[in-house]
Amino acid sequence: MPELRIKGMIETSFIDWSEGISSVIFLGGCNFRCPFCHNRELVENKPDGCMEQEWVLNHLKKYKTWVERVTISGGEPTVCNGLGDFLVAIRKIGLSIKLDTNGSKPAMLKELINKCLLDYVAMDIKGPLSNYGKYCGVEVDKGRIEDSIDAIIKSGVGYEFRTTYVPGLHSEDDLYAVAEYLKAKEVKNYKIQWFQPKNTLEPSYMDIKPVSKQTAEHIKKSVGLIFKD
Ligand code: SF4
Repeated sequence: MPELRIKGMIETSFIDWSEGISSVIFLGGCNFRCPFCHNRELVENKPDGCMEQEWVLNHLKKYKTWVERVTISGGEPTVCNGLGDFLVAIRKIGLSIKLDTNGSKPAMLKELINKCLLDYVAMDIKGPLSNYGKYCGVEVDKGRIEDSIDAIIKSGVGYEFRTTYVPGLHSEDDLYAVAEYLKAKEVKNYKIQWFQPKNTLEPSYMDIKPVSKQTAEHIKKSVGLIFKD
């Protein structure tokens, strides 16, 4: 496992956690290579340009009166050695924690849940599980993804599942297949995000046009109907 590297921080974000303002901490390293990823620097995870853990913790402590939540994002946080200890240190400050994850490390996820280190989990579902490697850029054990999904659902912590729709990589039916799969598990909170051609890991993805407003509305409505039935 790579060492935990803090590659960036947003002090106050209004969009990363629906419950309120959170600081966002970006950890370097990822075991996926999603071609549409726009966090190239985090995936590459070079050793330079890291923030000191102690400085970050002191900063969170100093501003905890105003910002009571922290989103841990990446990269993929669960591949980092020392993630648990880092979250314990954040807990000691008295902050709530949200984890963004690709769900590939169910054992780590369960450990963090069992130690009461998470208040909210946002897990990416890259596409239908039947052909998962296509979306992740690497072969993925889909049993692990399912294991993470099930662990999150029964964890008792707040959660959301989300898929980034990439025209050309996904069909609309792919999204509806994910929605049907989650509905069968009685999931309530599934979100679609919209691909933007920005700093993509696979350079040719820079040529993909973002989805039109009209198509986005149509997809959102269709997914909503699946969960309504
Ligand atoms: S989009 Fe994919 S490659 Fe990029 S950080 Fe997330 S899981 Fe890793």
